[in-house]
This record gives sequence, structure tokens and C-alpha cells, in this order.
Amino acid sequence: MKILLISDSVVEHIYSSSISERMKDIDFVISCGDVPNYYLEFIVTMLNKPLFYVRGNHCTEGIYNESGLKSNLPEGCINIDQKVVEYKNVIIMGLEGSMRYSGGECQYTETQMSHKINRLKPKLYLNKLFKKRYIDILVTHAPPYKIHDQEDICHRGFKSFNNFIEKFNPKYLVHGHIHVYGTKNNWITEVNGTKIINAYGYKVIEI
Ligand SMILES: [Zn+2]
Repeated sequence: MKILLISDSVVEHIYSSSISERMKDIDFVISCGDVPNYYLEFIVTMLNKPLFYVRGNHCTEGIYNESGLKSNLPEGCINIDQKVVEYKNVIIMGLEGSMRYSGGECQYTETQMSHKINRLKPKLYLNKLFKKRYIDILVTHAPPYKIHDQEDICHRGFKSFNNFIEKFNPKYLVHGHIHVYGTKNNWITEVNGTKIINAYGYKVIEI
């Protein structure tokens, strides 16, 4: 199964009419946030595959659509914040936002983030019981603490994600929020059997 991951930046290679040919074998798309709605809507239209997303700290400005209504959600895409969903036998869970730094929308304190996780735990225990695993992919905007993160409060990772990995052991944690440049191989880290992937720009993973 092939999954297209996108985050934080509009990439020409993806925002191109040839994407439907080049990426026709993609099973579904995951967005880790901070990309414009038109980009998500373009991808979902061109590939005609489900697109699961969480919002980042910069996804909160509303826009006016044709009917004059204010909307800040991309059409035809599936918001998985604080949800556990299953597609083609892959269990996916989403947690939007970054560390709280200015009090805006999509910003959370460590305590608020761990409450968001706690509300999903009953579903995870049911998965373990009936599907023999808690989840396959945790989708977040922010990274875990001290993994791919930065010192400043805005770009600091959540410790609750580290605890989550330790306890629920997903195959993948995919995140955005941290911009990486150049060819350094600093976008993937493995902890406790969980591959932590910074989706900045785009990545294709096969699971
Ligand atoms: Zn961000």
C-alpha cells in the first residue's frame, strides 16, 4: 500500500497536472497541516483518493467561498483530528495543532494534548482487542519532544506523543511543522519500532 504524505509547503512536483499519472498507484493521502486548502482540494480532485488531514497552527484563517460563506475547511477532504479511522485495513489517528505559544486556534498545552489523547483511548483498547493492534499511523502536525523538534515554544514537540509511542507503539508517526532543507537524512527517526517521519514537502511511504 502506498501513501502520499504532504505537509507545510506547496510543492511544484505535486501541484502539477501530471500528478494523476505519476501518482496513480497511491492508495490514499495524508496531510500533516499548514498547507492551503486549494492545495488539498487540488490533490484530492486529481488523485480521486481519500485525503486524511490534520490542521497545523497556520490553518486557521477563514476564506470566503463562491457562496460568500466563510470556510476554513478543505472540501472533499477528511479531518481526522481527535478521531480514529480505518481505511483499507490501516488504522489512522489524528492530532492537530502545535504547542500553545500565542493563544491562537490549533494551539494546545501539553495537558490539553494529553486530554485529547485520553479521549481516544477507549477506541484504541477496542482495536487492540479486536484487531490485535492499537493503531498503525498517528498523524500529527507537531513532532514528539526532542525528536525532529526545536527549542522555541512554537516548534517544541509534545511529550504526550513520546508517551503515546511508548505505550501504543504505532508503526508510524507522521508529522509536519518543522521545515527541513537540503539532502540531510534528518526526516526519519525510529523509536521503539515506530518510524517517526517528518512529511515536510512530500514523501511517499509504502506499508
Ligand atoms: Zn506549523
